[in-house]
Amino acid sequence: MNILVINCGSSSLKYQLIDSDSEKVLAKGLAERIGIGGSVLTHTPAGKDKVVTETDMPDHSVAVKLVIEALTDKEHGVIGSLSEIGAVGHRVVHGGEKFDKAVLVDDSVIRDIEELSALAPLHNPANLIGIRSCAENMPGVPQAAVFDTAFHQTMPKKAYMYGLPYEYYEKYKVRRYGFHGTSHDYVSRRTAEILGKDRKDMRIIVCHLGNGASISAVKNGECIDTSMGMTPLEGLIMGTRSGDMDPAIFDYICEKEGLTPAEMNNVLNKKSGVLGLSGLSSDFRDLGEAAAQGNEKAVMTLDTYSYHVAKYIGAYTFAMGGVDAISFTAGIGENNYDVRRRVCDYLGVIGASVDDEKLHIRGEEIIVSTPESKVAVLIVPTNEELTIARQTLELLK
Ligand code: ADP
Repeated sequence: MNILVINCGSSSLKYQLIDSDSEKVLAKGLAERIGIGGSVLTHTPAGKDKVVTETDMPDHSVAVKLVIEALTDKEHGVIGSLSEIGAVGHRVVHGGEKFDKAVLVDDSVIRDIEELSALAPLHNPANLIGIRSCAENMPGVPQAAVFDTAFHQTMPKKAYMYGLPYEYYEKYKVRRYGFHGTSHDYVSRRTAEILGKDRKDMRIIVCHLGNGASISAVKNGECIDTSMGMTPLEGLIMGTRSGDMDPAIFDYICEKEGLTPAEMNNVLNKKSGVLGLSGLSSDFRDLGEAAAQGNEKAVMTLDTYSYHVAKYIGAYTFAMGGVDAISFTAGIGENNYDVRRRVCDYLGVIGASVDDEKLHIRGEEIIVSTPESKVAVLIVPTNEELTIARQTLELLK
């Protein structure tokens, strides 16, 4: 069966059409600048060049229509007609406490996702627009919602409660939820498979280091802790997000700089992280180049970033009573030697040693630890779309 995987943002829509039998990607693409003018659809059929079309996309429904046209196009298409799409799997960011696994979408699920928009005001409404646009353009095709938070729902209460008045949890659902769940699930699963072990018998730390970054502790196949919180702002230092900080800084800077809470929130989400720290870029390729040329701020930024990753690895090793494997994934985790090297330099204390030559390898599944290392260290490229397709298929069985 072909499954269309959709990741819908407020002005963008990413898609992949996956054949669930072979698990091959038949085509993928991106609709950008939806509803804001200058819209572009980039469609890439497997093994062929991408086709870029500049065309008006006033809303997401039009974008979905154009995606279907691209997928069924005589020249660039990969299927004959819409009837060859068996289901749609949507990435939905926040599933709250309600969803501990993927579900087929019906009216009550839509209402629940809508309600959860209070916890993810930037994401859930956009995800819902994607669901509604697909329902409009593909009537009768089953749709699944696959939540970024679901994998983390196994966390024990001691890991997800904040040290705040308990009533905030009861009244407003303030707690840690965690994100990137499909990635942490996929990478921990692959880590065990690559090592020829059962995930149920392992303690795995997954470092998902992309623009957004989070780290998780997966013990006996279940997430027991993760670094992102009620929102994706907590935890590691990220591309443009601050990660952990003293909450008192919020008020202090608002007052000093004359910022409103909304403006300060924007600083913490969009202007902080390695961008804010380095004053150079949120892209680690730029930071790496600058550091190589001796830029002190770039070196300090890479050091600070990596130190925070290492601190979490230490904490999660303790939380799990030890660690069997540590995996790096996402843009930086998969490609960036600099960061991996800096993080691995802290791992000697847990008996981990890595082969520096292997640590240079980019974007491939590989065990980078040495044979005598007490902890396996791996690079495992993530595949969130495949996880969404698998979970969608599972729901149809
Ligand atoms: P997102 O969270 O947006 O999906 P990604 O997982 O694509 O983010 O990660 C983006 C980050 O990965 C950027 O900081 C980028 O610099 C880094 N990255 C991607 N490719 C490379 C590379 N070849 N070398 C170093 N860093 C890379």
